[in-house]
Parts: sequence; C-alpha cells; structure tokens
Amino acid sequence: MDLLNTLVDKGLRRELPTREEALAVLATSDDELLDVVAAAGKVRRQWFGRRVKLNYLVNLKSGLCPEDCSYCSQRLGSKAEILKYTWLKPEEASQAAAAGVAGGAKRVCLVASGRGPTDRDVERVGRTIEAIKEQNEGIEVCACLGLLSDGQAEKLREAGADAYNHNLNTSEATYGQITKTHTYADRVDTVEKAHAAGLSACSGLIAGMGETDEDLVDVVFSLRELDADSVPVNFLIPFEGTPLAKEWNLTPQRCLRILAMARFVCPDVEVRLAGGREVHLRSMQPLALNIVNSIFLGDYLTSEGQAGQADLDMIADAGFEVEGAGTTTLPAHRSDAADAAPSGGGCGSGGASLCGSGAGAASASGGEAAGCGSACGGCSGHAHAEAEPVPAQPAQAEPGALRSDLVAVRRRGAGTDIAPNA
Ligand code: SF4
Repeated sequence: MDLLNTLVDKGLRRELPTREEALAVLATSDDELLDVVAAAGKVRRQWFGRRVKLNYLVNLKSGLCPEDCSYCSQRLGSKAEILKYTWLKPEEASQAAAAGVAGGAKRVCLVASGRGPTDRDVERVGRTIEAIKEQNEGIEVCACLGLLSDGQAEKLREAGADAYNHNLNTSEATYGQITKTHTYADRVDTVEKAHAAGLSACSGLIAGMGETDEDLVDVVFSLRELDADSVPVNFLIPFEGTPLAKEWNLTPQRCLRILAMARFVCPDVEVRLAGGREVHLRSMQPLALNIVNSIFLGDYLTSEGQAGQADLDMIADAGFEVEGAGTTTLPAHRSDAADAAPSGGGCGSGGASLCGSGAGAASASGGEAAGCGSACGGCSGHAHAEAEPVPAQPAQAEPGALRSDLVAVRRRGAGTDIAPNA
C-alpha cells in the first residue's frame, strides 16, 4: 500500500506526514488494519526497539475539582462515586510510588485534581518529589497539577521533577464544547511553561469524545508542534455521573488506527497507551504494543485498569520487554538536543526538552479521559476493589461492531475502605 510505505519512510526519517496522509490512516478499512499496525511497528522499532516503558500513577488529590471538563469524574458537579480526598502526605505518596516501582515502573506520575496549584501546593509537591527520589533511586518523576502560574514550573524543576504533564485533550476547534472553565490556549500555555523551564513536556489527547477525524489529526499535529516528549493517547472512559457517560463510540480497530496515526505523526516520541485501553481495546491490547512504547501499569486515577501482573504478562507474551531504569527512553538525537537546549523542535525534529536526569527521558501522565490533563491513578498488582459486575455478553457479535455490552467502568475503591493507591 503506497500510503503505508510513504508513512514508514517518513517515520524512519522523522519527517512530518501531510494532514491528508494522517487522515487516510484513520480512514483505512478493517481489512487493512494489520498492515497499518505492521507499518507503525516498523517506525516504533526503529526508535524504541521492543522496549515498553511503564508509568505508575499516584493520585495525590482526588475529586472535588472546580473545573468542568466533561470527560472527568472529578469535575464540578460530578455524580460519579469516586474516591475523594485531599493531598496525600509526602511519605504516603512515596509509599504508593514504591509499589509501582516494585512492579517495574521507571516513572512515577504525581497527579492532583484542580484548576492549578497554589505556590504552597507546589512546595508540598516538591517535598513529595524529594521523598520519592530519596527512596527510589533513578526513578523519573512527572508532575500533573493543572494550569501553572509563572515560576511554578521552575520551582518543580528545582525540586527534582523531570517532567510535567498537561494534555491538550482535543482540537482547538472543539475544546470549548468539552470544557468551559478554561481554554485550549490555557493548556498550551502550561505545556510551554513546562518546556521553557527545562521539564520534559508530556501532553496527549482523549479520543472517543465525539470528535471527528479532523479533530484527532489537529490535536496530534498540535502536539508535534508543541514538541511534547511523550504523547499519552487516552480513550474515553465514560463515567456514569459525567456528561459523556453515554459516549461509547470506539472500537478496538478504531483505537489501533488512532494510535498508528499518532505514531506516524510523532515517530520518535514516547507514544503512551493511556486510560481506557482495557475497556476499548480489550483483547486487542497486545497488538497496540506494536505501535506504542509506553503504558501505565495497573489502575487509573479513579477507575480500575487491569491488574499489574496482567500488564507484565501481556508484554512478555507479545514479545516485548519492560524498559529498565538505566535505559534512556527517547532516541539519542532527542536526548542530545535536550541536553543542549531545553526547548525547541517539533516532536519529529529532535528538539525535545528532556527530563535532564541521567535516568533517561521522559513522559508523563495521560488522563483517564481523566483529570487535569492527567492520567490514571494506578498501581500494579494491587488490591482491586470490589468491582461492579460486567454485563453478560451476547452469544455472538457482529465483526467490528460497538460492544458496549462488554465494557463497564470499574470505580477504583468505591464502596470499600481501600486506601488511596493501595
Ligand atoms: S480534568 Fe483536571 S481540571 Fe478538569 S475537571 Fe478533571 S481534575 Fe478538574
């Protein structure tokens, strides 16, 4: 297929595809899907081999947000029965992080609900970062605290943060339909602040919110333009009690095409399979490892993922390997450029700002369709709270049909006395 040959050639050269080529990936047929995955796999292997980076979420502060992001279970007025609590103490967060590190995570993503941190919050998170780094040598820490004010990114960098996550989530054109309490420009501004402070920028999207193919291509092109080092691709987890609760409109095939498009547009960047992979990709998750080079381990911010051990088994069974703490995630051209200059670039261009630590490059949280640009709240292996029953499936499904009967959002810890991130 000429399209795929062209995209592979461009990906190997870190050359930006055209918008038409990116749209054409989303328009491929199910008969072409394995060819699309294989083509994206060639680009993935060129820059990341068969390594899979594991990221682990610690939800520092959950729920009770004054913002109104439609996809978020923590939003203003959310009726979702999620865990709600205020800031974890540094030692509690460090303890939670240690569980993820023990499961193989090389990055810890510290997420807090809210519009953005106060300077006091930044100091508190700084102490948390110090506690985590003291107890987990070589671990990368990414903060995800919402919109940043002047000087806050620098303070987080001084405290030892390697990266900052803030997702664009969707295209500029549709952002106003998703959130009214802040703007797309606010989000871009925060990613730029993080980048300018020398933090590795992590910014991604949420698919499945009713957007068009053009919206998806727009947001991924914007992420390349912003030179994010990591791009979490979330698939909406439609939480009961949120305005998007009925938006079950993704198939596994559609998810794979979206991931492939992101890989072709951002070939040498950490493309992370983030929130919603279990409910939307389901048994097709292992195929996605041929496209992405990073996933979250275990649960999400307010909902459950698959067990951490199942993630590790899936990686091994699919012939991939967990990336070790001593390995630099991003290709050398991006790492070298980041050492020389903290900003610049374009995600195929090699101008990324890196986390600066010897521990390697960076990325951050992703969003469980999720919080603050944030991601899941996860953990490996851990005590899954009592789950809601999964509805019985019909005897046979049409190929490629939507399977909302198969999916159920399992709230993390709801109705139990499970400790946050236990
Ligand atoms: S995404 Fe973040 S800012 Fe938006 S409602 Fe959720 S917690 Fe608040």
